[in-house]
Amino acid sequence: MFVQETSRKIPVRGEYDVIVAGGGVAGVAAALSARRAGARVLLIEKSYLIGGLATSGLVTVYLPLCDGMGQQVSFGIAEELLRVSVAHGHEDMDACAWLDENGDREVRKNTRFQTQFNANVCAIAYEQLLLKEGVEILYGTSVCAAVVEDDAVKALITENKSGREAYTAKSFVDATGDADVCHLAGDATQLFTQGNVAAYWYYEYFQKEYALHQLGFADIPDKYKTPERKAKDTRKRYGGLDGKELTELTCFSHGEILKDFLSKGGVDKDHALCTVATTPQVRMTRRLDGKYTLCDEEVRTFFDDSVGMISNWRKKGPVYEIPFRCLYGNLKNLLACGRCISVTDDMWDITRVIPVCAVTGQAAGLAAALTDDIHALDIRVLQENLRKAGVKLHVDEL
Ligand SMILES: Cc1cc2nc3c(=O)[nH]c(=O)nc-3n(C[C@H](O)[C@H](O)[C@H](O)COP(=O)(O)OP(=O)(O)OC[C@H]3O[C@@H](n4cnc5c(N)ncnc54)[C@H](O)[C@@H]3O)c2cc1C
Repeated sequence: MFVQETSRKIPVRGEYDVIVAGGGVAGVAAALSARRAGARVLLIEKSYLIGGLATSGLVTVYLPLCDGMGQQVSFGIAEELLRVSVAHGHEDMDACAWLDENGDREVRKNTRFQTQFNANVCAIAYEQLLLKEGVEILYGTSVCAAVVEDDAVKALITENKSGREAYTAKSFVDATGDADVCHLAGDATQLFTQGNVAAYWYYEYFQKEYALHQLGFADIPDKYKTPERKAKDTRKRYGGLDGKELTELTCFSHGEILKDFLSKGGVDKDHALCTVATTPQVRMTRRLDGKYTLCDEEVRTFFDDSVGMISNWRKKGPVYEIPFRCLYGNLKNLLACGRCISVTDDMWDITRVIPVCAVTGQAAGLAAALTDDIHALDIRVLQENLRKAGVKLHVDEL
């Protein structure tokens, strides 16, 4: 059954150079990068906290900027955001050998450039950084439709307490994590068919310790599972794009958290359930099907349109260059970044993590500031500007 929506004129509430949809780590990096290139930037976020999964989702581990052999591979805003996340202290994983420019080289070979930050402090620090740099933030606002003309996005339709409104820009960055804007605008997208197992991370105070519990942590791409392991794993899978399913996942996670918490006793002055995630902890849902789809076998592959490098958080050694073509599809002024760029299912597990989201966010934001026609952008101009912002592009530069 369907109902017919009454067609209505929607007021244009603002005009910008660049609109970034989604204020997770990728969106923060994109907004900063576009703003630093001189663009007037609006960052639209559906919740009331910056950081996405990293803060509201309690995924407070900023995975490595290095290759695990002592070599840093991700630079620029990816490094800056790690530093900001622990500027007022860290919860765990002291990265001091890396944070200190004179840090011990031998220690760096044996430890990774990663850290654990406090979700709320990090979210507020990112918000303050964005405001200081002149990014406009619009909280409590969901992007729910896109107006497309001549292969370009003209406006995003939003919904919030003021009702339905439109925002126009020269270029747009989809940092929603779920490729919502790409989907709404009719660009090509792919779904994550393996599905996500339930995760229910939470913070607890118990016996004088404040700790993150990473429940439901383990899953790997199907490609790396033996047939026996695959057959044995009968956990329910979630696609992550259906409102009712996400509600079911959230309620299930809450139930598991309460069970785990109560297994150590009830609430008293030495025992408290401090924080649960306020966004569903879903890793991979929908991504852009872009001009290039990067796969996990392309280790140390040279791409002449590389916009930055990343490591593999799962193992020491591999380094990847990220081709700019993974960040856009058919529409000429829409880029994707973060966990919804164009990669294979196996590579997705490598590119979805926080440092990679920052690397791709920086590139997407800058490109959006430089042009309203990505297909005609001179990649050398983008690369030159990324280099000026401290990014290293190719493996032979390390
Ligand atoms: C259980 C779990 C464990 C993980 N473990 C780690 C880890 O240890 N370390 C690590 O580095 N990474 C980890 N990750 C991955 C990582 O946290 C995320 O993939 C990464 O933070 C994604 O960043 P993002 O900015 O691309 O997307 P998100 O963090 O998803 O941000 C998207 C933002 O867009 C907003 N948004 C979405 N749709 C709309 C819309 N239509 N309109 C307006 N706003 C919208 C959301 O509210 C959100 O703020 C984990 C993920 C999960 C689920």
